[in-house]
Amino acid sequence: MADGTVLETGTDTILVVGGGISGITAALEAAEVGAKVLLVEKGPSLGGRVARMYHYFPKLCPPTCGLEINFRRIKQNPRIQVLTLAEVESVSGQAGEYEVAIRQNPRYVNEKCTACGDCADACTLTVPNDFDLGMSQRKAAYLPFGMAYPQWYVLDPQIIGTEDAARCRDACKYGAVDLAMQPQNLTAKVGSIVVATGWNPYDAKALDTLGGGRYPNVITNVMMERLASPNGPTGGKILRPSDQKEVKSIIFAQCAGSRDENHLPYCSGICCLASMKQACYLREQAPDAQVRIFYIDVRATGKFEDFYVKLQKDDKVTFVKGKVARIQEDPATQDPVVEVEDTLSGEKLRAQADLVVLATGMVPSTASERLPMDIAYDEFGFVVSDGSQKGIYAAGCAKRPVDVASSLQDATGAALKALQCLRR
Ligand SMILES: Cc1cc2nc3c(=O)[nH]c(=O)nc-3n(C[C@H](O)[C@H](O)[C@H](O)COP(=O)(O)OP(=O)(O)OC[C@H]3O[C@@H](n4cnc5c(N)ncnc54)[C@H](O)[C@@H]3O)c2cc1C
Ligand code: SF4
Ligand code: SF4
Repeated sequence: MADGTVLETGTDTILVVGGGISGITAALEAAEVGAKVLLVEKGPSLGGRVARMYHYFPKLCPPTCGLEINFRRIKQNPRIQVLTLAEVESVSGQAGEYEVAIRQNPRYVNEKCTACGDCADACTLTVPNDFDLGMSQRKAAYLPFGMAYPQWYVLDPQIIGTEDAARCRDACKYGAVDLAMQPQNLTAKVGSIVVATGWNPYDAKALDTLGGGRYPNVITNVMMERLASPNGPTGGKILRPSDQKEVKSIIFAQCAGSRDENHLPYCSGICCLASMKQACYLREQAPDAQVRIFYIDVRATGKFEDFYVKLQKDDKVTFVKGKVARIQEDPATQDPVVEVEDTLSGEKLRAQADLVVLATGMVPSTASERLPMDIAYDEFGFVVSDGSQKGIYAAGCAKRPVDVASSLQDATGAALKALQCLRR
């Protein structure tokens, strides 16, 4: 696409911003009843946070289950136009007729890519792998993850102008590496907009009393998903980062920074279940492993209650009501040592484990990066979608922290409202 291209869209088109499960769902629901959709994702692939998980509840299936089918539906639907590495720069106009400016960053690989991987084999530079939250390295020519959509490699901008970039280009038999690619400014007309920009994990480095980002064996719940994933940094074996030892004891510190005026004042509603799910990951791998979950309250309502009840029956899993106040490191073993007050007995406890997982909360991505459109935010940065803003509808975790099933329902609702806006 050339710089200045006007995309083939119109007032019969819905712009979906964000290509996670909410954005993908909104796009498909709208396109499959006949609307045109422009799906804009800032990363190099669709899939969002769900793609990084090992399993997801309630069925505890791998993300491949849902995402693969959705990617196939997108590929087969000519009404959906996907732009990756792209962000909305400005929106003007009103419901029914918006003008949108989009900037797309270069991938340095074009649609001739067959994902053969020869460029990665030729590339010598490795960089921290952000898909694994920096727990592994990846080549600077890479596919974001195995089933990424689109199935096109990406060249990290830092190799452009180096011998590595030339090596990647020369290794490609298909002429797919294009080192001259430049950022593109694109424009589109759309009738309505769905905002599905999702969430980021709360920054564990801000939790200094809990050793977040300081001690190698104190990790976060999103890192734990990657540690358990077969395509993660340890090939799916839950090994502790300092010495790659198998984890035989684990502590989950619930509400790490959440429901705390100094950090995230709200409850993310998901991290209790995420820890229970991750306790199962370890118990499946190491039948003798001890799990302790320190919590203030357990949030597992409705269909998730059974999951909680089942886990309570496991004699290797202990739930202790108490907030973790401090985490230090035993210098001899690098084991994290947790200080916690057991709120039922009043006792002050010290507990040591091979690994501690901080159950950090979900922060809307719009908390740090406001979108260039006329929408309201609540005090935490979530998009307010109360129906007062005609033409722009939020879905999924852009609105509040929710699970995948709720994101799907929400995205379907947002798609319907966006469709109604086109037809009015
Ligand atoms: C530790 C943990 C475990 C979890 N496990 C489960 C589970 O087992 N089951 C379950 O149901 N739920 C689980 N969840 C919740 C689940 O992750 C969310 O429900 C899901 O990610 C919501 O999807 P989304 O599309 O709204 O947001 P996201 O997954 O965050 O996707 C948003 C997308 O928008 C893109 N984006 C952001 N800003 C922009 C922008 N300005 N322009 C363009 N694109 C943008 C992002 O790159 C991303 O691709 C878990 C959450 C946590 C914290
Ligand atoms: S860019 Fe070329 S070499 Fe690299 S994966 Fe694609 S087709 Fe293969
Ligand atoms: S879901 Fe659980 S861990 Fe997460 S903030 Fe709420 S109570 Fe705390």
